[in-house]
Amino acid sequence: MATIPRLRDDLRGLAPYAVGKDMAPVRLNNNENPHGPADGMTNRLMRAVRESLATINRYPGGSPERLAAALAEYVAPWCRSENIWPGNGSNEALLYLLLAFGGPQQKAMLFAPTYAMHEQLCRITATPVAVVARDDDFALRAEAAAAAMEEHEPTLVFLCSPNNPTGTPLPPDVIATVLRYEPSLLIIDEAYFEYSQLPSAVSLVRDHPNVVVARTMSKAFAFAGARVGYAVGHAQVCAELQKISPPYRMSTITEALAMAALEMADLIPAQVAMALSERERVRTELESLGYRVADSDANFLLFGTVPDDHAEYEYYRDRGVLIRNVGPRGWLRTAIGEPAENDSFLACAAERRRTSRSVRFMQEGPACTV
Ligand SMILES: *Cc1c(COP(=O)(O)O)cnc(C)c1O
Repeated sequence: MATIPRLRDDLRGLAPYAVGKDMAPVRLNNNENPHGPADGMTNRLMRAVRESLATINRYPGGSPERLAAALAEYVAPWCRSENIWPGNGSNEALLYLLLAFGGPQQKAMLFAPTYAMHEQLCRITATPVAVVARDDDFALRAEAAAAAMEEHEPTLVFLCSPNNPTGTPLPPDVIATVLRYEPSLLIIDEAYFEYSQLPSAVSLVRDHPNVVVARTMSKAFAFAGARVGYAVGHAQVCAELQKISPPYRMSTITEALAMAALEMADLIPAQVAMALSERERVRTELESLGYRVADSDANFLLFGTVPDDHAEYEYYRDRGVLIRNVGPRGWLRTAIGEPAENDSFLACAAERRRTSRSVRFMQEGPACTV
């Protein structure tokens, strides 16, 4: 009798990345842009798909370079297609970065709580990883980064700017500090850079071949379902990623959709502006209800603290609002949705505050547990 193949020993106990399966009318659990495509945009996307179907019997040809060129144009005037590695979501870019540059000989470091996939991808690629706790306000400061670099001497460093799930900004002096220690690779995850008040780190790529910026069209571009992300790096780095890529990795349809969406990038600033003004409205309201809210440079807020974040999650879910409790214990994350969705969320928060006399709203949160 054959037996079930055994997962690699070092992966024993690994749990899949937790994707929420609950459904509710108001979905603020994935930090998505709440705006579906406007009618005009849907028509252009349809046209792009229809045209790409004419050659769907063929392997994708030529268009990866076209997509890389279009992404380069979006990134910066100096950026060339050689500096771009497009992927099926930025998670794929992160995976290939670790496949190419990680592994047992390396030592990665990240500052938790942060995007759970960073640690997960280290484990999958057998890359040892040091997990350093952020300060109690979830900020990352240059002194703390320097101390961590000294203590752990990592070869591969993850920074997330702004950081998910906390929303906290990444001060540029933290990046400068990390670079002074010359790690062989610094990955800066900029999934939310369109919402940030700080300059993007992409320009560092010009002078620092060890810097790679990972980006996505899943958030501000409102394109999470299309699965498009990209790495911005030195041409040689992107060439190495290409070496380990299977041919025809991205579908003709994905590429066509991404190209069409990039042509409509000028729709983004207005949606970002709405998200930021709504974010401040939601923050003010949460604070006036007595919640603590972490500093946010993105389209979501981390708030707390509550004794039982899972019970809190369920309370909102049962009232039709999905939020997320993947963050530190006692804290919850909500994305900024359309104004009416934010109102639904705030109504839950207010009701919870009013009705749960048994719930003790703590003045001081528990120390950040990761
Ligand atoms: C959402 C998110 C991603 C996006 O991944 P995709 O695969 O592009 O959808 C990457 N990094 C962070 C920090 C995120 O929050």
